[in-house]
Amino acid sequence: MSNVSEIIAEVRSQGRTVLTEIESKQVCRAAGISATETWLAVSQKGALALSEKIDFPVVLKVASPDISHKTDAGGVKVGLKNKAEVRQAYREIMASVRPKYPGAKIDGVSVQGMARPGTEIIIGMFKDPQFGPVIMFGLGGIFVEVLKDVSFRIIPILRRDAAEMMTEIKGYALLRGYRGHEPAHLPSLEKMLLKVSDLAEKTPGIKEIDLNPVFAYRDSAVAVDARIVLEEKP
Ligand code: ADP
Ligand code: MG
Repeated sequence: MSNVSEIIAEVRSQGRTVLTEIESKQVCRAAGISATETWLAVSQKGALALSEKIDFPVVLKVASPDISHKTDAGGVKVGLKNKAEVRQAYREIMASVRPKYPGAKIDGVSVQGMARPGTEIIIGMFKDPQFGPVIMFGLGGIFVEVLKDVSFRIIPILRRDAAEMMTEIKGYALLRGYRGHEPAHLPSLEKMLLKVSDLAEKTPGIKEIDLNPVFAYRDSAVAVDARIVLEEKP
């Protein structure tokens, strides 16, 4: 995973511990974790050029090492169908983010293709003061936030642990395709859990991994947002 250590070394050399969305996804993809390919545009013009290359609809998000919760900052615009919408989204993101984060360094925007809607999943890794590195699996949105429908294991996990983490949640029926809902491809989610466990185990200095959300489909799964945080000391 030399690519992973190179990205992390570069982030550290800039005195940062929080990887941007783009860096986090690069690490994920290098580690075999499926994530939408995401590019940086440093200007409105750049965002337009990338959107045309990727193909519409696209998603624009504020790209800043100082802003992790992009929606809260008014920094996410999804489903942009043409150049006019991209132009407007770029303007709106900058107009919303700059006054909210006056001191933030804003690199520009990240540009990625719009993923089709799927079952929203959250996969996370963090260091519990008592148990050490743990991995978390849950359904996205209100299921995690309000109902706390999540399962945990201590890292590293085996295939069987990954399978159990999925069956344990209360919303498991949704994953199986409850009432015509598109089922989630469990082998893809299992692989994602194992790869996250692997990445955390084999890369010293990773403190947190947050794939939120992952979209799960009947034949695959992909992270559309990712955030990786490093320990203060390498
Ligand atoms: P935040 O920093 O606020 O967590 P996200 O990157 O998660 O920002 O984006 C917010 C929401 O926008 C996501 O929960 C998801 O529903 C939607 N979204 C983000 N990226 C994509 C994408 N590539 N395709 C489709 N929807 C997306
Ligand atoms: Mg997110």
